[in-house]
Amino acid sequence: MRPGRAVASLVLLAGLEVRSAAAASTLPELVERFDHLQVGDAVEVRDLSLAAGRFICRLASGRAAPVRAGDEAVGLFFEGDGTMEYVSTDPVEAPVVLFDVRKGSSLKAEKTDRGVVIRDGFRRLLWIARGTAVPRLDGKPAASLADDFRKQRAKFSRAHGAPLSHDFALQALNSPSAPLVWAELDGGREDLVYELDRVDHPSEALLLLHPSESRDPELRKFLWPVALSHQPIDRDARVPAPPRFLLTAVDLVLDASDGNDARLGVEETIVPEGAPIRALRLDLTDIWYATLGSNLSPRAEKVAAVIDERGRRLAFDHRGEEIVIELAEPAAPGAPVRLRFEIEGDFLIRPGGDNYWELGVSSWFPQPYLSEQGYTFHAVVRVPPPFVPFASGKTVRRAVEDRKNVLETRVDHPIQAAAILAGKYETHEESRDGVTIRVSTYALENERSMKALTGVAADVIAFYRGFLGPFPFDELEIIEINDFGFGQAPPGILFITQEAFDPLLGDMSRISSRSVARTFAHEIAHQYWGISVRIPGYAEQWLAESFAEYYAGMFLKGRLGPAVYDSLMSQWRRAASFAADAAPIPMATRVYVENDAVRRSEIRRGLLYGKGPLVLDALRRQMGDERFLDVLRAYQASHAWSFGSTMSFAELLQSRTGRDWMPFMNRFYWGLEMPESGSRSSPP
Ligand SMILES: [Zn+2]
Repeated sequence: MRPGRAVASLVLLAGLEVRSAAAASTLPELVERFDHLQVGDAVEVRDLSLAAGRFICRLASGRAAPVRAGDEAVGLFFEGDGTMEYVSTDPVEAPVVLFDVRKGSSLKAEKTDRGVVIRDGFRRLLWIARGTAVPRLDGKPAASLADDFRKQRAKFSRAHGAPLSHDFALQALNSPSAPLVWAELDGGREDLVYELDRVDHPSEALLLLHPSESRDPELRKFLWPVALSHQPIDRDARVPAPPRFLLTAVDLVLDASDGNDARLGVEETIVPEGAPIRALRLDLTDIWYATLGSNLSPRAEKVAAVIDERGRRLAFDHRGEEIVIELAEPAAPGAPVRLRFEIEGDFLIRPGGDNYWELGVSSWFPQPYLSEQGYTFHAVVRVPPPFVPFASGKTVRRAVEDRKNVLETRVDHPIQAAAILAGKYETHEESRDGVTIRVSTYALENERSMKALTGVAADVIAFYRGFLGPFPFDELEIIEINDFGFGQAPPGILFITQEAFDPLLGDMSRISSRSVARTFAHEIAHQYWGISVRIPGYAEQWLAESFAEYYAGMFLKGRLGPAVYDSLMSQWRRAASFAADAAPIPMATRVYVENDAVRRSEIRRGLLYGKGPLVLDALRRQMGDERFLDVLRAYQASHAWSFGSTMSFAELLQSRTGRDWMPFMNRFYWGLEMPESGSRSSPP
């Protein structure tokens, strides 16, 4: 595959002025300056071009004014007749770029021998850049652009997510010579944002901003970005981006009130990789939404302080779902940095007013990208009765202290996505083959269904142990969620909705029992696929979802016979048939269809839960059952408690079979091809 070719030349084609290095600045100064960009005097411009990476803007005629962050010239603002062209050269994303542009925008994308080309016109353009030249403007004085500039900034500041000041602050503090370009285009067929970022994970992206599809006034405040293209720079898109640092340990204390309020103290150990870091970015929710009648009501998660190991309070900016922190001095690669976060807010949300809250799959404590997470976990949770706390990990102690129910847990292996939950639960505990299985039901004790669920879980674990090796955890918490139709699998936990709590569950001849068993088998498989073997990014989600789904299929076949597997295969094929043309499997989360959340989720599901298992089944048929199962077991053994990737999976396939499987993966995984249906033979 070609790496990003055109990217090396960050050339501005007219009126060059290379910015002198800005004086050393602090995070608050940088954020302040880039939050309040200033526009200077306008001049007439004609035939000016601005280019970065695989993106070019042509300003045919109009007015332009310099833009400053504090005293530093960082770019320009233009009003007039302009056109843009963006080229995606990454063959993996090409189909989804074409699909999203067609289904989700009023733009046109064209397949050319340079790649997929997207074009639009614009009336206004903000172009800011650091680490690369910004144009000097000369021309006849023109009417002021101050009003247009203010309106434009007000509009684009509504984009959901982090402000541009975060990116520019990270650039200035971490790698001031690395190019960073940000462009906002307004007044064409779509509102667009372009970003070239060589600071974080070198890549460039073209984003479309669309109005909220929700009717809720809180969500309508935002414009929602959709990535039409996101391509790596100087890197094969099939290889996960290297981490900047690793989050290696999380140690937290959560003190919950009996209402919505909580205090959260989190100690994190962060180890820089490759280059020193002076500032870092972590995902952290700042606004939560509780349902209040038919509307959403915002709740706050606030950081009171970030303190380093020597007790120094560090500067930070927590906005747009992330926190940026400036360290007191640069941290060297390999040298652990310990940070303490003091957090508070009314972010304990009880869905529908129920008697539980969950801090689960969101960024409820500071977390970096998936590729930067592999942390040991230690939690102390204090909750007023009658609520009972649960948390990822092995139970260290349960106690009552100061009239609160206290739970302490620990995970000694590196994980992602640790979760905490508390509520009015009754728990049934049994030990089966060395694994403690606890089933906790919401509000109402139901001995018979708890026993039945324990039985199904023990059965699934025993089955997987045979195929995949020891179960990754000593304890499994199965917790009822007062809802319908889904399961979730944080480390050592299985959240399952209430239809599972059916006293007749053990009777597998019943359709409803089978569907619960399937959900169970899928979610328990995640303790191997997705938790023990971690995924380094959403592009690798099939390693969790498709693999879990495939093992759920094997379990059902083992317990109920080949006919059940055949019917699963038909379900997978049907799901895939709605999805396979839209995108390759790794681009499942990139699929966008305007105003059609159902279709989007159908395609995502079709790729991850339909086509993915079919690709695995095709591998099995080509390799033979025994070898296929042997390779998957070997992959679990070699990648337990570390990052998996499709690349390393293909490498293991090759070393075990002596055959190069990349052509297969390029066709069926990184490409749009569907594997043949093949014979109806099913796995052993
Ligand atoms: Zn899943």
